[in-house]
Amino acid sequence: MTAIDTMAGRLAQIQQRIAQACERAGRPPESVTLLPVSKTFGVDAIREAMALGLTRFGENKTQEIRQKAAALAGQGLQWVLIGHLQTNKAKDAARDAAEVQSLDRPDLAEALHRRLQNEGRSIDVLVQVKTSSEPSKYGMAPQDVPAFLRRIAAEFTTLRVRGLMTLAVNSPDPEEVRACFRALRELRDRLAQENIPGISLDRLSMGMSGDFELAIEEGSTEVRIGTAVFGARSYPDPQ
Ligand SMILES: *Cc1c(COP(=O)(O)O)cnc(C)c1O
Repeated sequence: MTAIDTMAGRLAQIQQRIAQACERAGRPPESVTLLPVSKTFGVDAIREAMALGLTRFGENKTQEIRQKAAALAGQGLQWVLIGHLQTNKAKDAARDAAEVQSLDRPDLAEALHRRLQNEGRSIDVLVQVKTSSEPSKYGMAPQDVPAFLRRIAAEFTTLRVRGLMTLAVNSPDPEEVRACFRALRELRDRLAQENIPGISLDRLSMGMSGDFELAIEEGSTEVRIGTAVFGARSYPDPQ
């Protein structure tokens, strides 16, 4: 068996590639966090990842978080919602998610806030922004983000905004992909100048298995890696 056939080998390789991308970009390696994306993988795979020191996992469905959280209760794991969230699932997210990175509209913010108030919790959130014109991608239009942040700060106080998240265009042209990441960073830089009280924009969640090195070069602070750590998903993933 070669190293790459094991999760330990794949994880080590990804960590090395993250460090190399940071070096190329003149950034310290600890400036980029790895969020392992365990969606579609079962509890055994998560246990294997836990044995390698991973405790925070990205998932795209509240039902899947619920099942895994129940099976792995009491082990200090954190579940991060990265997939499109229907408003009628806000209750489940408010109960089980440590963080939501796919906050992309006011009615979802309102529903999450109401449910979080009931739970007596507050959570970190990232605002998902649409940086490509692909119709299949979710995310708020960049021009709507400033007013959204002000509204969250004023009304939805259980949501602690920490930054922005995006998915780049699916394109064979790396410069098209890079343009999405750059657009998110530039939006963040403009928004940061507004100094909205209570809103922090330190984090940029961008980059996946196929494009994380470009994202790091453009300022990503968190790469969401599924297949490159866990292996190929055996059933298709409707993002
Ligand atoms: C599935 C998913 C990922 C991880 O994708 P890979 O290509 O497997 O690394 C990252 N972000 C989001 C929002 C996802 O849905």
